[in-house]
Amino acid sequence: MARGTAQARILTKRSLITGAAGFIGSHLADHLLARGHEVIGMDNFITGDRANLAHIEDPRFTLVEHNVTEEIRIDGPVDYILHFASPASPIDYLELPIQTLKVGSLGTHKVLGLAKAKKATYLLASTSEVYGDPLIHPQKEDYWGNVNPIGPRGVYDEAKRFAEAMSVAYRRYHDVDVKIARIFNTYGPRMRIRDGRAIPAFISQALTNEPMTVFGKGDQTRSFCFVNDLVEGLCRLLFSEHAGPVNIGNPAEMTILQLAETIAKMTDSKSTIEYKPLPEDDPKVRQPDIALAQKLLDWSPQVSLEDGLETTIEYFRKKMAQ
Ligand code: UDP
Repeated sequence: MARGTAQARILTKRSLITGAAGFIGSHLADHLLARGHEVIGMDNFITGDRANLAHIEDPRFTLVEHNVTEEIRIDGPVDYILHFASPASPIDYLELPIQTLKVGSLGTHKVLGLAKAKKATYLLASTSEVYGDPLIHPQKEDYWGNVNPIGPRGVYDEAKRFAEAMSVAYRRYHDVDVKIARIFNTYGPRMRIRDGRAIPAFISQALTNEPMTVFGKGDQTRSFCFVNDLVEGLCRLLFSEHAGPVNIGNPAEMTILQLAETIAKMTDSKSTIEYKPLPEDDPKVRQPDIALAQKLLDWSPQVSLEDGLETTIEYFRKKMAQ
């Protein structure tokens, strides 16, 4: 290696993001490029979208089409690996149950193998779904969860629980620098309009004055974090000396009916509320306890629901006009 190249190499960190064309993956790519990293984005585009990365003109970014359940080959060093590849909305993992199980298990194994070979720091995108339909509220990292392994959501929940177990095994037995973030409901630009999740569904319905589909009585709760806050929390964990698992989410809890009403008001919509059956195993409550993230990472979310929704509604308005 020429001297100049070697020096540039020491200064420039090289990061791999699996699932880079997804909602969160694409925001991570922006964030790491802005920090000066060279970024390799990997995706097989089954739920990811190239359009989420189309704005990137930075020559330090490369996009590789690859399914991470197959062997991953990358030449040269890799300093950080952020493992975000997976279908992640309930509709997606209902439609893609086997792929969801495979990417969480076989895919995680391949990505960890790469992390071990490259001596990279690895961050797993885990989820509040590891807590299932929780019997402890709010959810703390030491809660083991209440998951139905054979229910419709089991394919995602158990894949992520397995991914956590596999990641910790690589830390214990192979000394890989493994970090686990448990991501709670997140929203923002680049979510898919029809990914089935509450915020994109309600915004697109409200903007077209169609009925807003509230499942059950709408008294189930969620706590929504704006994507910029989430990415900041994830990066603080990645660059810290802490391993986690650490909850990253916004503790501002509300009912789904309150969320629908807020979006209707903010969009000046004429939409009515249409009640639909509650999906099987839909968690009744969800709220992160973020005391650990506050203590270890000095992180807490900064963006209010109104501000985050404003930005997201604007994104969907433009996207739907295209
Ligand atoms: N939900 C709803 N209407 C929709 C989509 C979702 O009432 O059109 C509800 C869903 O049943 C759940 C909550 O909103 O209770 C959040 O759902 P989402 O799919 O966004 O994420 P989850 O937290 O269930 O993974």
